[in-house]
Amino acid sequence: MNSVPPSTIPPPSTSTSTSTDALLARRAAAVSNGVPLGSHAAIGSGSGAILTDLEGRRVIDLASGVGVVGTGHCPPSIVEAIVKQAGLLLHTCIHIATYEPYVALCERLIGLLPHGDHTKAMLVNSGAEAVENAVKIARQATDRSAIVCFTGAFHGRTLLGMSLTSKVKYKLRSGPFAPEIYRLPFPDHFHDGDGLDEEAFSARALARLEDSLSTVVDAAEVAAIIIEPVLGEGGFVPAPKAWLEGLRRLCDRHGILLIFDEVQTGFGRVGHFGAYQHYGVTPDLSTWAKALGGGLPIAAVVGKADVMDAARPGTIGGTYGGNPVACAAALANIDLIEGLDLCARALEIGARARRHFDALRAQTALVVDVRGVGAMVAMELCLDGDLSRPAGALTRDVLAACLEQGVLVVAAGVHGNVIRILCPLIIDFVDLERGLTVLCLEVLRRTD
Ligand code: PLP
Repeated sequence: MNSVPPSTIPPPSTSTSTSTDALLARRAAAVSNGVPLGSHAAIGSGSGAILTDLEGRRVIDLASGVGVVGTGHCPPSIVEAIVKQAGLLLHTCIHIATYEPYVALCERLIGLLPHGDHTKAMLVNSGAEAVENAVKIARQATDRSAIVCFTGAFHGRTLLGMSLTSKVKYKLRSGPFAPEIYRLPFPDHFHDGDGLDEEAFSARALARLEDSLSTVVDAAEVAAIIIEPVLGEGGFVPAPKAWLEGLRRLCDRHGILLIFDEVQTGFGRVGHFGAYQHYGVTPDLSTWAKALGGGLPIAAVVGKADVMDAARPGTIGGTYGGNPVACAAALANIDLIEGLDLCARALEIGARARRHFDALRAQTALVVDVRGVGAMVAMELCLDGDLSRPAGALTRDVLAACLEQGVLVVAAGVHGNVIRILCPLIIDFVDLERGLTVLCLEVLRRTD
């Protein structure tokens, strides 16, 4: 037989679960326990910022699948682009044959995210893969091997990603980790400020960083410093602007490449396409994923063309990276972010979240800090306002109670005591206000 006639192909299997409990039981039996179970929500469909669970209940999504669906669940223009591309070409592998959506997406990215005069890009499937490739590019471009990263950082769950990641709970029994990784303190003004203002704190932190290049790792060995400009999983901690500016100068002085991991900050959430644009500090390389693909798995490394071209042919890439359907989704997604001016909307969302959280902080010592950039806003909870008593268990309780009332929220922070807003940027403000009100009331109820 030369080909399989379509009529002989069996229809897809349509096994369904009728209830949340039944699906969670099937998950427990079939899926590894190592895959995190962050909530007991089981979802059948989504539209905009609203999910529908298996019992048909409406759930306001303040999580976006960890910051992925910035343009909402199943926006018609993205679904249409996916269907259209799926009918044209599903896969060739960019190593084997070139297709237009890959090139078009790279062109779009380098236009939106310039890194100096000439920028280039490459596509992969996930944030961790983007980080892996950025590190390989930096090593080849500098002929150096050491990588400096920071406390509180999250860079993914591949072995190199884990090696760069700070939170120990994400790495249990998974080593040995990749060598030549050096971790230094993230400039966390709120926790480590010692009463200094932000400028004095930044100057002290930069002096300590410079000193580490004598006491921890020789600058001449360092290929790159990788940092999230605003810690994502680490609890929405923004690096101070003066410190990032100083970091840029330090890298230039020592011939070290600066990598910004923008996997969580990217594509509108901070009020710009990238946090580097918010800070006015341009890295040599940057990594992007999550909100790039509108829900499809796609990620990118963007960087100065001479640095990107230092990678020898064959050393970066992969079979699926920049899949045509994912590229088509990303292009339609970027059109939506621009067309709906979601960068501006992110600022309004952030202002609303801050209003709720600041008012809550005035009422309870549990809330020790409200922080973030743009729509990336979070509050940190500590028992009796004591920073040495992070309220991780109480936070989990609050999130479970919110879900009971149809609001899906996620935590962050090394101690799981930071509640972060990561809603779709297209969220209806009535839903946003309702979600924030439910969340704040649940925190308030737990105040002594
Ligand atoms: N980098 C940052 C800053 C992230 O927040 C994440 C995921 O949360 C990653 C990398 C890893 O991305 P992925 O889960 O797509 O591999």
